[in-house]
Amino acid sequence: MNYDIQKIRSWFPVLEQKIYNRPLIYLDSAASSQKPLQVLMKEDELYKSFYGNIHRAAHFMADKTTLEFEAVRTQVQKFINAKSRDEIIFTKGTTDSINLVAHSFGERYLNEDDEIIVSEMEHHSNIVPWQLIAGRKRAKIVKLPFTETGEIEFDVFQKLISPKTKLVAIAHVSNVLGTINKIEEIIKIAHKNNVPVLIDGAQAIQHIPINVQKLDVDFYAFSAHKMYGPNGVGILYGKEKWLNEMPPYQGGGEMISEVTFEKTTFNDIPYKFEAGTPNITSVISFGAAINVIEEIGLNKIAAWEQKIMHYTTIKLKEIPNLKIYGEASEKSGVISFNIDKIHPYDIGALLDKMGIAVRTGTHCASPVMQHFNIHGTVRVSFGMYTSIEDINSFIEALKKVVNMLKT
Ligand code: PMP
Repeated sequence: MNYDIQKIRSWFPVLEQKIYNRPLIYLDSAASSQKPLQVLMKEDELYKSFYGNIHRAAHFMADKTTLEFEAVRTQVQKFINAKSRDEIIFTKGTTDSINLVAHSFGERYLNEDDEIIVSEMEHHSNIVPWQLIAGRKRAKIVKLPFTETGEIEFDVFQKLISPKTKLVAIAHVSNVLGTINKIEEIIKIAHKNNVPVLIDGAQAIQHIPINVQKLDVDFYAFSAHKMYGPNGVGILYGKEKWLNEMPPYQGGGEMISEVTFEKTTFNDIPYKFEAGTPNITSVISFGAAINVIEEIGLNKIAAWEQKIMHYTTIKLKEIPNLKIYGEASEKSGVISFNIDKIHPYDIGALLDKMGIAVRTGTHCASPVMQHFNIHGTVRVSFGMYTSIEDINSFIEALKKVVNMLKT
């Protein structure tokens, strides 16, 4: 395959670090990915040459910043093939995007005894916002369970949908199990029942090409920091028809059309949902991250990561008493595992001392832990820069750790 891993890695100077005098092996990209030079340079350029606040002042600096900021909105629109740039709302991250929908959609459409279907494999950020609004509206959360391999069964889903269902919220890719949920089918079934669907795309957008029009999804949420962009920026894609009808989430500057002490009228979408000065610098450097992904091609990145994932899975399975959580037929990005009689935290702590960054714990997905009756897992996750050599070093170190810890 024509994938220049060395060139890609050269864009990420942080990967040349030594940690505790060992070469850094970064296997925690699902928590947050590292940032390429192109993103760092864009941020530097912005502050050094033309920074100003957007949308407001009639001067060169503000105008140029506004143009660059709005160009990223168009770039995101194209990246996910949204019908209109007005359907792209800048938020703080996936969590913020989901809270926006829970609050605003919930405020407008949710009533007592209504139901929201939420899958059992969700990150807390796709559970708790729904619990909060359900509590306020006396509505209910209905759990959509997953199977032992970590998959959703359509017939179970179909049985849970009823005239009381007002929304379905589900991850495109699970941040623990790695399952790529068959969201096309989920959306089709939901729409047959006139129920809109919110997809948490935090673990999908950096691995899988997304076409929101083809998916016919109602809301799609993701974070820039997991796709090689900066912190503090997320996207909420929402169909125009919903966003127009939903009330504002927060009040402040920019989201208004006219304000008097008696009455305020609101701006059009997307600005209705963007109160206050946004994270200007990060939005603009996020554009540079999208350029990097597009320069390589998301299909090529996906194929490379699949190769890395299959290789890692095979190598992990060679280790005695190791259990992988999540064995869906289609997986992406992450592998979670435990080794019999060894605490995941001990594995993580010892690997760290060997320069290997993995994640341990519940991964903000406690219901997944409850499903398997465990307290946590070790999770390795991959990015465009993960190499076969990274995996070989990790497996070798893991074998050493097991030898050190076995009783
Ligand atoms: N959903 C999933 C599936 C995630 O993996 C994460 C990040 N761990 C989030 C939501 C929350 O993303 P953020 O912290 O960027 O808001």
